[in-house]
Amino acid sequence: MSDTTLTLAVPVFNESESLEVFHQRLGKVAEQLIDQFGLTVEILYVDDGSSDGSVEIMNRLPSARFSVKTVCFSRNFGKEAALVAAIERCKKGAIVFLDSDGQHPPEMLPEFVRRWKEEGNDVVYAVHNKRQDHPIKQKLVGIFYRLINAGSRFEIPANAADYKLLSPRALEALKACQERIRFFKGLSTWIGFKQSAIEYEPEERISGTTKWNFLKLLSLSSEGVISFSTVPLRATMFLGVAIAIPSSLYGFWIVLSALILGNDVPGYSSLFTATVFLGGLQLILLGVVGEYVGHMLREIKQRPIYIIAEESNQQAKTPEATDALGG
Ligand code: UDP
Ligand code: MG
Repeated sequence: MSDTTLTLAVPVFNESESLEVFHQRLGKVAEQLIDQFGLTVEILYVDDGSSDGSVEIMNRLPSARFSVKTVCFSRNFGKEAALVAAIERCKKGAIVFLDSDGQHPPEMLPEFVRRWKEEGNDVVYAVHNKRQDHPIKQKLVGIFYRLINAGSRFEIPANAADYKLLSPRALEALKACQERIRFFKGLSTWIGFKQSAIEYEPEERISGTTKWNFLKLLSLSSEGVISFSTVPLRATMFLGVAIAIPSSLYGFWIVLSALILGNDVPGYSSLFTATVFLGGLQLILLGVVGEYVGHMLREIKQRPIYIIAEESNQQAKTPEATDALGG
């Protein structure tokens, strides 16, 4: 029975101008899913501390043959926290995450569901087929995925979007990951199972601009790498060895050449450069270790990932009630 329930989980942060248009589009597709696959559909909006009136609009969005639930955070906790709240509220069936700005076209949902129900995939995710990003950003993204996947037993796919369906058992597996700092792109691959990618071209936002700036992206990437890889720590050690061995050989050579050949040690500028270089390098490496320690501290504190201010639930309307309303 639970295999016929599908939750459409939508994080919302200051999307007051897009929400109504988006809900209309999503509602149409939800009805289509009910007819085509006989699913029970629930739309779950998670407001991540919006301050632009999104909550009032969200609470007015109508249910139909699908139910509409809303959850509002007490402040902005970040998109990953909104996804955790959605997962924790999804008690049965499958879940799909999609953005509320229209960049993840809801019209693709029937194909997601088909790949789950008919092809038996547990994780279906969308992959950008064309990157409109700046070449430098593309390069940085490439480095990020190489770093995160280095020496790993599983590969987090590059360019995968957070537009993703998880089957009931994949969702259960994801719920079992109890860490505070969750990097969904990684975890949904880490759980394994049969996965399938759908190529797509992200649409333009219905309205507004992206909530991510370079620093936020850098912070998310660093959390991703720290959650999934100890390569930076190991690289730190290898770098230390790579500098220590040649420099001690060189030191040995200086002593020998002074003793045997009587060469004077040349000026102190090289000494000064080497000291400053090593000082800088040590600070960088300390920073890398510090990032891991900070990550551990945040995990150990065991604070809640989000705090709820309010929740609402509009049950699905029966076909008779929908007819009576002229819907
Ligand atoms: N979002 C969120 N909390 C945030 C930032 C964004 O819930 O702190 C939501 C946002 O409303 C949208 C989705 O996450 O539904 C993706 O955000 P955005 O479009 O800004 O990211 P991009 O598409 O540029 O990666
Ligand atoms: Mg977007």
